[in-house]
Parts: sequence; C-alpha cells; structure tokens
Amino acid sequence: MLPLAALVTAAAVLGLAVGSFLNVVVWRVPRDQSVVPGSACPRCGHRIRARDNVPLLSWVLLRGRCRDCGAAISTRYPLVEAVTAALFAGAAALLGPSWALPALLYLVAVAVALTLIDLDVHRLPDAIVLPAYPVGAALLVLASANPGGEPAWGALARAAAGGAGLLLLYLVIALAYRGGMGLGDVKLAGVLGMFLAWFGWDALAVGAFAAFLLGGVLALALLATGRARRGTGIPFGPWMLAGALLGIAAGGPVADWYLGLLT
Ligand SMILES: [Zn+2]
Repeated sequence: MLPLAALVTAAAVLGLAVGSFLNVVVWRVPRDQSVVPGSACPRCGHRIRARDNVPLLSWVLLRGRCRDCGAAISTRYPLVEAVTAALFAGAAALLGPSWALPALLYLVAVAVALTLIDLDVHRLPDAIVLPAYPVGAALLVLASANPGGEPAWGALARAAAGGAGLLLLYLVIALAYRGGMGLGDVKLAGVLGMFLAWFGWDALAVGAFAAFLLGGVLALALLATGRARRGTGIPFGPWMLAGALLGIAAGGPVADWYLGLLT
C-alpha cells in the first residue's frame, strides 16, 4: 500500500493542476464560455503556452505578468492553485488510501469553484451544481462498493436520505424567508447533504449547523458595522461549502465534544 506521505504529495500535485483548471472554470462558467481550450490571458486573449502554464511556478517566473501583453496576472490565480493543493493534501491525509478519496477531492474542487463564483457574481451556476448530483452519486457508489474491502451500502442509503433531507430543509427556509435564501443555495444543499451524510450523521449535523453558525456570525457582523442592511444579499454558498468541509473533517470529534457538554 502507498505510504501516506506519497499519497499526500501526489494529492497536492494533483491539486495544483486542478486549481489551475478551476481558475479557468471560475472565470468562464459565469460568462457562459466553454472551459476548453485551456487558459488564456483575460486581457490579450493569447492562449497560455504549456511551459507558461505550470501552476505557481510560471506565475513566479513571469513575475505575475502575461508574456504577450505584459498585463498583470492577479495573485488570485497562484493563490487558488495553492489553496486547492493544500485542501487536496488535507483530504488525502484525512482519508488515507481510501475509495472515498475521489469523492472528497471532487467535492473540494466543486467547493473552491463555487465559493469564488458566489463571491464574484452572487450565483451558484447550475452548470456546476446540477452535474454534482450524478457525478457525486457515482463517486459515492464507488466509495460504498469499496473494491477489495467490505462494501458500505448503508452509507449510500444514508447519503440519499441526507441529500433529500438537507434539500428539503433549505427549500422550507427559502419559502419561509423569501429573499433570504436563493434557489441556488437550495440546489447546492442537496449535493452537500448527500456527501455529508455519506460520511456520517455527525458530519451532516456539524456541517449543516456550521454553515448557519459561520454565515450567521458574518451577517450579524456586517449588519452591526453597517456594511450590509437587512435584505442585502450576503452570499451564503461559501458558508455552506466551508461548513460541509468542516463537517467531514471534524464531524465526529465536534459531535462528541458537543454531546459531552450536554451530559
Ligand atoms: Zn496578455
């Protein structure tokens, strides 16, 4: 079996490449542009040459400028690559060599893309959220089948129930507080409920609660400092996604700690 250090390193390298692709996704999907062919300079439109498209390294070697027109390339691009690499490495360290790792890496990639798009344009595009249902389900079937080990079909049934449950909860909130929660958040909730519940009921509970806690604290802070008024759209997607990753990473220990406080 692969030593954990090798797996984590491989995941980090994969994360750099995926982060580079996500930069393209985050720029083009809200503009309804195709994500193939690969990266191009947003100013002069020149295709980025393969040798200038090495994550992190190219940005440093080109000193953050386009080779063709000299336009400054935002530090956001290398940052997205670095953060994706760190999250991929974290996922590999958390799960080790597991058939659940492809599912978690996919969720991380979706989370990075949707967080940036929601912050940019206050939308969670269907082009990313809707395919996450079949792709996520297929990856969770693989994780449940667990080739070479004990299958875990109970987790798959839990994922279906968790996805439907969180979707319904958000739908009720969206209908009860019109304008507070977008339909995009409702659609995303089904995806996150599915993933969270696959990992466990405690992951689902912690992940769902953390979203409201993180998002609510920020909303209150913005209201208190006068930087937002009631009814101003504060993107909630990033908190749902951050909460979900937190739920998967720390669901068990957090749930135990909380139940320990009660008893
Ligand atoms: Zn250029």
